[in-house]
Amino acid sequence: MMERIDHHVHFELPYTLDNLLPYIERAKALQLDELHILDHSHRFVEFKSVYEEIMSDTTLEGKWIARKFKSSIYDYIEFIKLVKNQDFGIPIKFGIEVCYFENKEQEIKHVLELYPFDFVIGSVHFIDGFGYDLDNQDYSNVNIDELYKRYFELEIAAIKSELFSIIGHPDALKLSGINPTIDLYDYYDALVNEASIYNVSLDMNSGLYYRYGVNHLGMDTQLIKLAKLYDASLVPSSDAHKYSDLGNHMDCMLRMCDKQTTSIECSDNVYITDDFNSFEVYSKNNGKLVDTISFKPHTQKGSVMLELHDILSDIKEFFAYMHEYYHVEHVVAISNEEKSIYEALGMEKIYSKESINYYNYTF
Ligand SMILES: [Zn+2]
Ligand SMILES: [Zn+2]
Repeated sequence: MMERIDHHVHFELPYTLDNLLPYIERAKALQLDELHILDHSHRFVEFKSVYEEIMSDTTLEGKWIARKFKSSIYDYIEFIKLVKNQDFGIPIKFGIEVCYFENKEQEIKHVLELYPFDFVIGSVHFIDGFGYDLDNQDYSNVNIDELYKRYFELEIAAIKSELFSIIGHPDALKLSGINPTIDLYDYYDALVNEASIYNVSLDMNSGLYYRYGVNHLGMDTQLIKLAKLYDASLVPSSDAHKYSDLGNHMDCMLRMCDKQTTSIECSDNVYITDDFNSFEVYSKNNGKLVDTISFKPHTQKGSVMLELHDILSDIKEFFAYMHEYYHVEHVVAISNEEKSIYEALGMEKIYSKESINYYNYTF
């Protein structure tokens, strides 16, 4: 069983116990094993030299960083000590999310040596000076394929630096909404290979889904599959920037990160197991599993599919049930065969991959 932990939760200033209490309450309500809290490296003046590459009076990145470094890391460390001296009924751990820049490993190391943080997330937010997640970023003069290539190279360099326990949102470049023309398979492959060798976890980041509208919960299915193949560690994270987002899509991510679970898809409300036995329904409000609906599987030629009459009766019933009880916008159904049945039910095919067809049904 994986530990029930949201590995990436940003703290809202100021550093007071009053501000921490709602995080504790929510972590307990979600039955988390531990509460993990972190802050950005760009908050702290001690990290200033790490950001040299983007210091500029004229660029978007330069203007962004000029507004940072509002606190000292010692303010954060004092707060950590204050919290660690008390018992809140749940273990609380503190970390930091560090912006990774090539050739700044020594500078990063020096700051991290100031306090033994429980965990350190290394994230690539700047690709050779280009801040891909900044508001109003201009992609018009960017070579997208090259950007992706460099993104993964930098993430691998971050892994090899041995400064980090986790790589934050390793599949985040997609939040730009601009996809490469090249297949990312080789980059994913290299990334999980190094993550496995260096024993660094990769954070499945639901923030990409609920904050940026990326169409998966932080990681492409291909990346998830490869991570399992290489036995690389995946950890659930919400990248919450306010306590109410802590644990978003937790159950779903836990299932996807679990090494025992193979080949899966997840939509907002419905989780689909790879063997077609059941649909699991997750609440939109707190991400918790609320129900499981089973189907009768029928095995044929090594693949699992539903019997015709099962599809017709159960799926209709299932949709009616979902609509009535969960008010879902849509569900995603999956089958290797019997496309016509799905189409006859009014489902619109949304995409197809590896001979598996995905269908989207809108109420
Ligand atoms: Zn980040
Ligand atoms: Zn973050």
